[in-house]
Amino acid sequence: MKGLEFIIFDLDDTIYPRSAGVMQAIGDRIHRYMVERLGLDEEVAVRLRREYLTRYGTTMRGLITHHHIDPEDYLAYVHQVPLADLLSPAPRLDAALSEILAEKVIFTNASREHAGRVLQTMDIERHFTRIVDIRDMDYRSKPHPTAYQRLLTLLGARPQACLLVDDSARNLRPARELGMTTVLVGDGHLEDGVDFVIEEVAQVGSVVKKLGT
Ligand SMILES: [Mg+2]
Repeated sequence: MKGLEFIIFDLDDTIYPRSAGVMQAIGDRIHRYMVERLGLDEEVAVRLRREYLTRYGTTMRGLITHHHIDPEDYLAYVHQVPLADLLSPAPRLDAALSEILAEKVIFTNASREHAGRVLQTMDIERHFTRIVDIRDMDYRSKPHPTAYQRLLTLLGARPQACLLVDDSARNLRPARELGMTTVLVGDGHLEDGVDFVIEEVAQVGSVVKKLGT
């Protein structure tokens, strides 16, 4: 791959492993938001959350569309999780990122405040030049195609110059269609829309090496 300029990382369950439990904690907050703020029954909340996630890629998009929530209130509420108890500095990832010359960016369906706190807790924030968050996407989350267009516009990047790293194959597919190279992180496998699979994000350097940049 000639001319790799940007490595774009998803945040949650990508920058740290799923086993850290951060998304579990956020999921609990989302559930409480639906029950306490919106007054939904527990079972209804569980069902709707699953439905919105499948249909829109995030629960938030469904809540905006069908329950007219204030996205800022929602984002502040659901990201109140004890990050310091769940995450710690990541020296291996820090070293791996140091060896990669391309510009590093976070591209997240969460808020930039949450992303900033995660990066700070892991002590790796210095590597990232930019956080493209859900507001930057006008609350139209990945995998909605406009999210990726927005990302490219904000970065002033050609898709061919981008490597996207995400734990969700569903979120990689639209990027692949635009011409980005895609890396799936975690226990997934090669499938449609996925160019590379790595077990953990610190291995991203091996992909960059394979691309010969
Ligand atoms: Mg993720």
